[in-house]
Amino acid sequence: MKKIGFVGLGNMGFYMSKNLSMNNYTVGGYDINQSVFQNLKEFNINQVSSLIKIASENDVIITMLPNSVIVEEIWTEILNNIRQNTLIVDCSTIDIETSKKLHNIAKTKNISSLDAPVSGGTIGAENGTLTFMVGGDNETYKQITPLFEVMGNKSILCGPAGSGQATKMCNNLLLAITMSGLGEAIKLANSQSLDMEKFYQVLSTSTGSCWALNNYCPIKNIGPTSPADNNFKPGFSSQLMLKDLSLALSASLQANLNLNIGKKVLKNYQKLVENQEGHLDFSNIINYTE
Ligand code: NAD
Repeated sequence: MKKIGFVGLGNMGFYMSKNLSMNNYTVGGYDINQSVFQNLKEFNINQVSSLIKIASENDVIITMLPNSVIVEEIWTEILNNIRQNTLIVDCSTIDIETSKKLHNIAKTKNISSLDAPVSGGTIGAENGTLTFMVGGDNETYKQITPLFEVMGNKSILCGPAGSGQATKMCNNLLLAITMSGLGEAIKLANSQSLDMEKFYQVLSTSTGSCWALNNYCPIKNIGPTSPADNNFKPGFSSQLMLKDLSLALSASLQANLNLNIGKKVLKNYQKLVENQEGHLDFSNIINYTE
């Protein structure tokens, strides 16, 4: 399990692949954006020229791509050329149905696969402290665990194929809601002319504390360094959060559930994206409370 093919070296994949390479894995990367390789060369990550090579020359293939359509396209090409005994893991956030479908195609080719979306953001990717939410069988999970341990500090086998994606969707629904709620608390605090440093000190150790405040404080120059300190440069883009919320809401519809708060937050993200701010960090939603 020493040769890794990594597809998608963007905000997350860049650091994940770098951490693997720095822990003595041999990593070859594939990305349509050539510029990502400039900064990866110093970490011994070489650009692989085709997906066929990725498919046929590695022990493990990891994908970290923007959405379901792209993951399906990439997995289809890889699975058509894959060497036997290669394991394939998708760490992107995609819909459960596509994830299950791709697991099934892999199975028909006798290839073991996992869905393993992550939580922890680019900070977690950089520091190797991601949480992996895994769907698949126990034997494949055990084989991949050493890689999860290099890229993160926690991995949990949530259940059979697709369970990682289902868990991730619940997490991001809650994250979008807590960040939006935090936006309302900040709005109220500002209306009372509160000192925001004191506001942070109290709330981050009180019952209102949450990851959105303690680790990703969306108030400029308050709390740990976050996208708010850098004009909301992502991080995790609002466009991607809107995708995740849409996945959660469409799963809720299929399950005949009515997620009222989630629906409201989804509308705010839609508004934000319509205002051409989709490329900015998802925490910018604090400016869209109403
Ligand atoms: P990103 O857009 O920064 O990176 C995606 C990379 O995929 C880019 O480098 C892009 O060039 C590449 N790519 C796109 N199409 C391709 C193709 N056809 N072939 C090869 N490469 C292609 O996105 P990201 O922020 O790294 O997120 C990746 C995934 O991780 C998404 O599914 C996202 O929802 C999930 N995620 C992101 C974060 C975060 O904080 N950014 C956190 C958790 C999960």
